[in-house]
Amino acid sequence: MRILVTGGAGFLGSHLCERLLSEGHDVICLDNFFTGSKDNIIHLMDNHRFELVRHDIVEPILLEVDRIYNLACPASPVHYQYNPVKTLKTSVMGAINMLGMAKRVKARILQASTSEVYGDPQVHPQTEAYWGNVNPIGIRSCYDEGKRVAETLMMDYHRQNKVDIRLIRIFNTYGPRMAEHDGRVVSNFILQALRNEDITVYGDGSQTRSFCYVSDLVEGMCRMMECDDFTGPVNLGNPVENTILEFAEKIITITGSKSKVIFSPLPQDDPKQRRPDISLAGERLGWKPQVELDAGLARTAEYFAARIGKGAVQK
Ligand code: NAD
Ligand code: UDP
Repeated sequence: MRILVTGGAGFLGSHLCERLLSEGHDVICLDNFFTGSKDNIIHLMDNHRFELVRHDIVEPILLEVDRIYNLACPASPVHYQYNPVKTLKTSVMGAINMLGMAKRVKARILQASTSEVYGDPQVHPQTEAYWGNVNPIGIRSCYDEGKRVAETLMMDYHRQNKVDIRLIRIFNTYGPRMAEHDGRVVSNFILQALRNEDITVYGDGSQTRSFCYVSDLVEGMCRMMECDDFTGPVNLGNPVENTILEFAEKIITITGSKSKVIFSPLPQDDPKQRRPDISLAGERLGWKPQVELDAGLARTAEYFAARIGKGAVQK
């Protein structure tokens, strides 16, 4: 098949392009390089089935494809809050443009939605049936509400125009090729630990997150795309939940770091807890994560160590 991956030069997108090429597909990677990088896809450039298009999905584009994975959107709070209006345009106008393309060429389209549609959840763990608790006017809203509108657009194009859609809600995912300066907890803590700098825990560190390794996520994403008669939404994530403080301690141990934990103010609207209920993904896709947190973190630490020229991780 000919497959379009928007945001293909980003963290998740680059792993997805790799996977689709390995299955023998033709892949068009579309990216405006806001948070993505050519470094992430440079190893794919020699593959004659791989094509790179520099384009901003806020603008329409004409392409003929069989599948569209719509991943283009900055994902870390630091990046999506840098230009909130642009973040909203990317989610909303990007979804309209990609759905328009899907409708025109009768392609199946998968939208990368997020656990952020649940906001600061009052239901725990989060099931797909939960409608969420989202602040519409806060500093995270450009991302959360943009993704919620993208979900609405997907469902309306499906009901109104019979577009063949797939909706996944991705929970915190980590792994090699996360951007070094994206401010997300995994990259921040690992880099701080590798440099023996203080580990910056925001708030008292009692807030929780559940971290999924990138290969597991890509597997779930591809299964969902190729699953017949199931539009989703479906949660994809790892249900193993840790407090952020536990997570900091884990990273110190894995990297053999001398870092100490320090506490800084909690950002506004930071969700207090997050853990996916993945029963639906289990039932419909036969999917569950395989990579243990310690193993995934060790691989990610190796990647960052190589990036910053630190050599092998000590443990
Ligand atoms: P990322 O920032 O590494 O990748 C996003 C990519 O989209 C980048 O390559 C960026 O340059 C590109 N992009 C941004 N705006 C664009 C635009 N207007 N036009 C074209 N390209 C544009 O982030 P990621 O972690 O790989 O996330 C990929 C997708 O998955 C995003 O939609 C994100 O919301 C979603 N998601 C990720 C996570 C996670 O934990 N990584 C969790 C939930 C949802
Ligand atoms: N966090 C932290 N220190 C950091 C970066 C993040 O304590 O240096 C916390 C952040 O406040 C949040 C959690 O880690 O509670 C996850 O943050 P991230 O930005 O990675 O993702 P999100 O909040 O979108 O889940």
